[in-house]
Amino acid sequence: MITIVEQQLTEMRQHGERDYPFECCGLMLGRFESNGHKVVIETYPISNAREEEAKRNRFLIRPEELMRGEKYARAQSLDVVGFYHSHPDEPAVPSKYDLDHAWPTYSYIVVSVEKGQAVDLQSWEMESDRSRFSEEVIATSQV
Ligand SMILES: [Zn+2]
Repeated sequence: MITIVEQQLTEMRQHGERDYPFECCGLMLGRFESNGHKVVIETYPISNAREEEAKRNRFLIRPEELMRGEKYARAQSLDVVGFYHSHPDEPAVPSKYDLDHAWPTYSYIVVSVEKGQAVDLQSWEMESDRSRFSEEVIATSQV
C-alpha cells in the first residue's frame, strides 16, 4: 500500500500531460513505514534521457539525475520510495522493459496519457522473484 498526497498525484498526471507525446518520468520522495507501507510526500520530476524516438515507449533515468534526486531527498529528510513515468496512448500497465529495469521494494507508478489527457494512474510493485509486477493499492491524503 502506498499513501500519496493528493496534490502529488495531480502533479504526476500533469507532468505526463505536459510531456505528451513523450514519456515523462520522475522520483517519488517520502518514507518507508515499518509495516512496509510507503508514503509519498513530494514528487521530483526529471527528464527522460532516451532519444526522441525511444521516448515514446520506455523511460530511462540517468544515474547523475538519480543521484541529484537522492541528494535533494536527503536534504529534505526523505527517501526515494519509487518512480513514476507516463505511457502515452498506452494503458497504465508496466511493460516488459519496465519489469527488466525495476528493483524490488520501490513503487512504480504508471500514468496513462491518451491524446494528451491523463486518463488512468496505477501503482505497481515488483514481486521479490522479479517475475512480474503486482498492483499496489493507492490511498490519498490531503497533506
Ligand atoms: Zn513504461
